[in-house]
Amino acid sequence: MFRGSVYSGVEDDLKSLFNIVVSRGYRVIGPKLVDSVIRLERLHDFNEIPYGYEDKQAPGYYRVVNNGGRFRHGPDSPKRFLYPPELLLFIIRPNLSIEYPRFEFAKTALFGIKPCDLAAINVMDGVQGELGDEYYQKVRENLLLIVENCVEPGGTCFCATMGTGPFAFKGFDIAYTRIGNGAVIFQPGSDLGVDILSELGLRPAEDEQVDRLRSLMMEASKKARAEFTLENLPETLEMGLDSEVYRKIAEKCLGCANCNMVCPTCFCFDVLDEPELDGSAKRVRIWDGCHSYSYAQVAGGHFRKSLYARYRHWVLHKFVYWLRQFGTFGCVGCGRCITWCPAGIDLRQVVRDVVREVETRCRR
Ligand code: SF4
Ligand code: SF4
Repeated sequence: MFRGSVYSGVEDDLKSLFNIVVSRGYRVIGPKLVDSVIRLERLHDFNEIPYGYEDKQAPGYYRVVNNGGRFRHGPDSPKRFLYPPELLLFIIRPNLSIEYPRFEFAKTALFGIKPCDLAAINVMDGVQGELGDEYYQKVRENLLLIVENCVEPGGTCFCATMGTGPFAFKGFDIAYTRIGNGAVIFQPGSDLGVDILSELGLRPAEDEQVDRLRSLMMEASKKARAEFTLENLPETLEMGLDSEVYRKIAEKCLGCANCNMVCPTCFCFDVLDEPELDGSAKRVRIWDGCHSYSYAQVAGGHFRKSLYARYRHWVLHKFVYWLRQFGTFGCVGCGRCITWCPAGIDLRQVVRDVVREVETRCRR
């Protein structure tokens, strides 16, 4: 399965890889510890990556500890760079002339992102291809994707259920796995990846290393699972439109839209006009989310007033409608919406409970 396509190195090779990428003119974005949270930030030095720190994640819980463990991902996803939270569309001056912003689209390397975030980029490619978002497409054209496979999925991850991780299988330039004892396995995924890795002078991985990689993959896959499967999931969820589960969730949900904001695939936006004191005004695009009250408020009224309807809509969009619109699920199982939900609502349990309720009904 792997022979001939995986290469053996050590952790120092990761630093060399980082430096090669910088020397090729890429701005590097990667994990960095900022105010006790591992964010995706501009990196100037390989040592800024907080290897040796672990992020402990559970529903409504996130802590970073320096214990020699491994981290997964924080609240940021690549969406923040491909589809910024706030984007200036134009400025209108007091004389009514319009100025459009000039953006610089620097070559960008995403270094050490996780397989679920790689999968989210693939999902976003489908969406933004459809919507034709020019900013997204320009950033995407110059993107180098270097992925760190997850040996230890976190407490809210379910990428294995969604078929998006914990190991990357397509759409990357380079994937690497820290297999323990300082050893790293590298895998090129594109011609550019082959070219960059050739500068490292790696040797093909030994048989024992390939075996170790396989067993790590299998172990990690067992951990990153939810208690539902994708088989007939859209059909089952559609049969549960009136599920009591959504009513119970609505009693806990705050409608804060944190889940929308941290989701690597949620793409809804609002357009605002911001007047300035000098008489000009900015038109900006900002992230919006279907959980917030104002989202579905339109001139003629409000078409999704209750939290029950808003939460249900989100679940159905992720697991039912998205498939029809864009040909994939809208969820990659990253678990961010679970970790960063202040009410500790667990999407895995919601989907599982609706499925069980429908199955029970069907058996009667
Ligand atoms: S719905 Fe939740 S688990 Fe799925 S991709 Fe979005 S944030 Fe991640
Ligand atoms: S599910 Fe959680 S994060 Fe999402 S809107 Fe409700 S309370 Fe906020």
